[in-house]
Amino acid sequence: MDINQLVRKNVQKLTPYQSARRIGGNGDVWLNANEYPVAPQFELTEQTLNRYPEPQPEQVINSYAHYAGVKPEQLIVSRGADEAIELLMRAFCEPQQDSILYCPPTYGMYQVSAETLGIDVKTVPTKSDWQLDLTGIKQNIDNVKLIYVCSPNNPTGNLINPEDIKALLDIAKNRALVVIDEAYIEFSPESSVVSWLANYPHLVILRTLSKAFALAGLRCGFTIANKPVIDALQKVIAPYPLATPVADIATQALSKTGIEKMQQQVQQLNRQKEIFASYLSALPIVEKVYPSSSNYLCVKFQAGKDVFKTLWNKGIILRDQSKSIGQDSIIRISVGTAAECEAVILALKTII
Ligand SMILES: *Cc1c(COP(=O)(O)O)cnc(C)c1O
Repeated sequence: MDINQLVRKNVQKLTPYQSARRIGGNGDVWLNANEYPVAPQFELTEQTLNRYPEPQPEQVINSYAHYAGVKPEQLIVSRGADEAIELLMRAFCEPQQDSILYCPPTYGMYQVSAETLGIDVKTVPTKSDWQLDLTGIKQNIDNVKLIYVCSPNNPTGNLINPEDIKALLDIAKNRALVVIDEAYIEFSPESSVVSWLANYPHLVILRTLSKAFALAGLRCGFTIANKPVIDALQKVIAPYPLATPVADIATQALSKTGIEKMQQQVQQLNRQKEIFASYLSALPIVEKVYPSSSNYLCVKFQAGKDVFKTLWNKGIILRDQSKSIGQDSIIRISVGTAAECEAVILALKTII
């Protein structure tokens, strides 16, 4: 029996997300997933595992609300920001009828989630400076319910101009939600649009503990929006999205000392990023290191494909972007420890 015949048509055609752990490779240096390079230490304090957890753990919600400067009712916590990307579609998009819109090159999960759910995808590529093509978006907004904008953008590292986000919110008014994915915002915290929520009922912000908080393995993310949006998401989220140990560690990470530690990590990483960028720029095979407001660098090489393969063979795993729109010969490199960055530079110096 051919089980594949039974699989939904859209899932038969689906290309799954190229996750960091799925790519294979035999690496000692993993700089392909924008993870924080050092593991923070935690101890579990909550041992009551015979009971179901709280659906929305109060301490996690209250601590994050305090950190983000919003009310607890403006927040929902989920199994990573990835789950939130999909919850929004499940709550707001009619399959086979509504669309989402996003602007490549950008994060791959918007597409994967939409295709999984049978929701149409409209893409409006960014302009050559990786900023929004507002005219193109305006022309394609029919049937669009959700517009995903990543800022700082993954993989390019740039912030989206705040005036353009405002213009986009005006274009989308009474039509669609504008979802700003702030997965990397801790690396340029002054650029968050959280304070705009008071003026825009259709603004939604995604956050995560996976990047600056160094907790990608925890699977914990947040959606910030006004209460009516959050209420809709509460209807479709799984009954117990956060395991008890996850809530336990998230609470510790969001304590006063936890936040201070994260801010130190960010400072350190931003310093390391500047050093790494200057070493990369000095290499003859590097054409350009793009400015980055995040924890990774977008680097244009002469013959990027060969560079990726050569480093791969040396056990240094980077992210090849060359197949993405407007990303020819570009490799995305997460900023690692000083030793990891040095290993990259040494390996690159062997290529002529
Ligand atoms: C890493 C990442 C996410 C996913 O975060 P999780 O909380 O780990 O699911 C979402 N958006 C962008 C742009 C990311 O880079």
